[in-house]
Amino acid sequence: MSTDTGERVTLPGLWHLEFEHAAGRAASRFLVGLRDDQVLRASPCPNCSRILVPARNFCEDCFVPTSDDCVDVGPEGVVESFTFTYARFAGYADPPYGVAYVRPDGATTAIGNFVTGVDFTDPAAAAARLAIGTRMRAAFRPDGERQARITDFTWEPVGGGL
Ligand SMILES: [Zn+2]
Repeated sequence: MSTDTGERVTLPGLWHLEFEHAAGRAASRFLVGLRDDQVLRASPCPNCSRILVPARNFCEDCFVPTSDDCVDVGPEGVVESFTFTYARFAGYADPPYGVAYVRPDGATTAIGNFVTGVDFTDPAAAAARLAIGTRMRAAFRPDGERQARITDFTWEPVGGGL
């Protein structure tokens, strides 16, 4: 006679882990560029010539190392996709907020980040404001507030928002 009733029990748990990890060569160049120079650094692929942002160590299409010579792209670009949320998620900003993938001028790829300068209280208006192809600009935090983190900048519509 089997003693397995089929019931699967769940147990409550809470993990709070703090750790640091090395960002790596290319990502560090990208993050230092945000903090010190207010630029978006990208990696050219020597094989396919794509300009990959954020800077990275290898081309994921060609599986070859990228060039050590980063190039600056943007600071403006165009929206390739976006989303916004009205739900609360642990560790994120108070809703509503939006995230957009923007392809900076001179880059082949897009980079996602939070959007500022858009009123998200009206979903239809916010969606129109972030329509695919909308020109955006990287808006950097003031001097002394940048920390070599992706949150050192946000995407804002060119020409002002809200
Ligand atoms: Zn490539």
